[in-house]
Amino acid sequence: MDMTPVSICNVTQCAYNQANLCHTLGINVGSHAECNTYNYRTAKGGNREVKAGIGACLAAECRHNQGLECRAPDINVTFHDSHADCKTFEAKR
Ligand code: SF4
Repeated sequence: MDMTPVSICNVTQCAYNQANLCHTLGINVGSHAECNTYNYRTAKGGNREVKAGIGACLAAECRHNQGLECRAPDINVTFHDSHADCKTFEAKR
């Protein structure tokens, strides 16, 4: 099983974000589909050579979630209401 990549993240104020790309190895997504790796900071971290994937996702009610792992082809992250959210979240029917 390959990690699901983070294609775009527009949370530019996050330490791991450079030019709308996330540069940590793996983010964790919480039970409300929020990015728990978001870190507000002026100084940049991560590694520019790295493109982020999803380490784990606790949003069990998302249709892309199987066994607390993300199985979407890729995801996008966006800023929403002062936190970072997985924009690819879709509730199971
Ligand atoms: S698409 Fe669904 S399963 Fe994948 S990271 Fe987002 S909320 Fe989690």
